Amino acid sequence: VFMALLGAAAVSGLTALILVLVEAVNVLLPTDTKFGIVFDAGSSHTSLFVYQWPADKENGTGVVSQALACQVEGPGISSYASDPAQAGESLQGCLEKALALIPEAQRRGTPLFLGATAGMRLLSQKNSSQAGDIFAAVTRVLGGSPVDFQGAELLGGQDEGAFGWITINYILELFIKYSFSGAWTRPLEGTLVGALDLGGASTQIAFMPGGPILDQSTQATFHLYGSSYSIYTHSYLCFGRDQMLSRLLAGLVQSHSAGLVRHPCYHSGYHTTLPLAPLYESPCVHPMAPQNLPQNLTVEGTGNPEACVAAIRELFNFSSCQGQRDCAFDGVYQPPLWGQFYAFSNFYYTFHFLNLTSRQPLGTANATVWEFCQRPWKLVVASYPGQDRWLRDYCACGLYILTLLTEGYGFSEETWPSIEFRKQVGGMDIGWTLGYMLNLTGMIPAEAPAQWRAESY
Ligand code: AMP
Repeated sequence: VFMALLGAAAVSGLTALILVLVEAVNVLLPTDTKFGIVFDAGSSHTSLFVYQWPADKENGTGVVSQALACQVEGPGISSYASDPAQAGESLQGCLEKALALIPEAQRRGTPLFLGATAGMRLLSQKNSSQAGDIFAAVTRVLGGSPVDFQGAELLGGQDEGAFGWITINYILELFIKYSFSGAWTRPLEGTLVGALDLGGASTQIAFMPGGPILDQSTQATFHLYGSSYSIYTHSYLCFGRDQMLSRLLAGLVQSHSAGLVRHPCYHSGYHTTLPLAPLYESPCVHPMAPQNLPQNLTVEGTGNPEACVAAIRELFNFSSCQGQRDCAFDGVYQPPLWGQFYAFSNFYYTFHFLNLTSRQPLGTANATVWEFCQRPWKLVVASYPGQDRWLRDYCACGLYILTLLTEGYGFSEETWPSIEFRKQVGGMDIGWTLGYMLNLTGMIPAEAPAQWRAESY
């Protein structure tokens, strides 16, 4: 009867009406909820995200919501090199919170992923067998859970950037959108946004350029909802927040007398003493180790933003791009910037702290960070009671972000307001995890939705 109806409808031009009826029946049916779990094993810490979506709308866009974000206690998994079993154990608490959300009958059908990023990339470089032991330990714990564990893997830097790009454009519904009139529509060309991610060990840039991508090694291509997208993506290892801060300090050690550093990025009146050897453990910093390492280092802040920027510039190799077009720094190809950008993770944390997330002009951002850097440490501590964990480094991070985005990537006074500093959109955290899950579960189909094709009959 249905086929006969369809035939008749096609002849009489009632296809659209029938589709509306089918959709109406779908709406009346009870919808099951599906779940997916992703661990983001970052360099500084691990987070877990639980996503949920209505089972019957799997291939739509904007249908996935974030049901849980859980912060794993303790450091990132790469810090457990001397006790890998603990890396696995550390995940138990968040895993249990995730399981509590998922009805028992659905657990076996719930995919669970773990993706490790730059912290584990660095450990793999330094000691691949330790990295292997950590992956084995987390696999043992996650493999024993009642959900469908799909594996723990090391994400390439390019993938990290590309999945961040998919996440933000998916959440903003910029691939396709289900309109009120009941049809899928594609937003105007050029509205897709770029992604800027500042992690602990690496930083990523990903965007769809206005012209060709001339270096194929920086290109990622996706077929999503019937369209092809070629994006530029690059990850700079050792340019994440923590590795940058370590390299900055190591650079200052090189140019100071043994045992004492006058640090221009720390506020005046700040001082501390720290053991020096751990600073050089990372492959990012190791090459900067002096011959005779004093055991301890005394650091005194001078609160001098001009000298701080000069020290930060030393972390970039700008001369390798001199006289070349389409080159960012460290000899890395980058096509001209294009469109709007979302800057998240530490870009957001730092600029949120500095009250710079309202699209202020570049001049205001510069003036605000410089003024903050010049504040005596005593005043800073008094102004932000209870926030001492990150307080010392906001000056260095603020100036680093300004240097990276302007002198590194090439944002100018004109293009600066196209950067939106955000942690979340519509209740979802911005990061690579959602894009990663959508990709691995095949939830973004390569083809356009059926209703769309029906539209163009
Ligand atoms: P994540 O995005 O969690 O990998 O963090 C990126 C970087 O930001 C790491 O260096 C963290 O140590 C740092 N971080 C995390 N939370 C904050 C915060 N609330 N304020 C400043 N920095 C943070």
